[in-house]
Amino acid sequence: MNTPCRTHENHDTITFAESECSDGMCCFTCVIPPGNKHVGFFKYLRKGGTASPYVKLLVTSEGYKDELYDACKFLNFIISQDAAKPHLKMDLRCSIYKSRPSQCMGYPDQAGESVYQKISGPCIFNEYTAPRAYHKLVYKREWKAFYAILDHADAIRSLCAHEEPSVARSLILGAKGVVRAAISVGRDERDYLLIPIQNETRNILYVSEKHQPIVTIRQAYSRWEEKIQNNLKNHYRDEWESRLKSAIETEEKDAGKRGDEDTTGNLE
Ligand code: SF4
Ligand code: SF4
Repeated sequence: MNTPCRTHENHDTITFAESECSDGMCCFTCVIPPGNKHVGFFKYLRKGGTASPYVKLLVTSEGYKDELYDACKFLNFIISQDAAKPHLKMDLRCSIYKSRPSQCMGYPDQAGESVYQKISGPCIFNEYTAPRAYHKLVYKREWKAFYAILDHADAIRSLCAHEEPSVARSLILGAKGVVRAAISVGRDERDYLLIPIQNETRNILYVSEKHQPIVTIRQAYSRWEEKIQNNLKNHYRDEWESRLKSAIETEEKDAGKRGDEDTTGNLE
């Protein structure tokens, strides 16, 4: 990705609609195999959603190559004005929700590497909103995610159906944190509008017994031991247990220190 160029800045961030799973991150990364093979031949012939031709998920972390993910063919990406507040909101929805493939229905309670594996895990948005200490231990890096929207009138028209494209584009560009950047996709380089994905869990996480926000490493490990342990073994080999223990100790020591501070940030 080339260095982003910042345009005029507005005051409001683009938030997600206040409903379950409005972030749709797993429909870019976790559930879909290459070529959308999970949906089967006949469903594949059906009309696709608005996201896949125009929107990508960009993941950046300092010192690592940027990662770019394509959307599932059936994902709808909708940007609209919030009637109550003067800002934009995004809603990502499956256009074949009732007949979505079994991998999608089972995710994230069955988040194994294959359909035969039944490992439950936190979903990708759940991990995105987890504390920094969790990112550093389980991913060995902190990461930030953006929705990258092709900067083209057809794209804006398709995603913001209720606005005039030039008006919608100015509103997107004017929102807080949005930048314009050139991204190489294959041999082509094209301009995209990058919308930062906020770290907010309110009303977004699908809340089931197995699918709760990550608060601490200890809590996440006790809930999703098998999945997290696999990651740790991949990263740290024989040292995984000592790394886990030390990360939990550090996190709890830091939480203890914060508890000893008064509201002004001074030690009591
Ligand atoms: S909250 Fe989790 S399960 Fe729901 S769309 Fe986002 S990543 Fe997928
Ligand atoms: S079929 Fe629907 S739920 Fe499954 S990845 Fe595609 S958009 Fe998401």
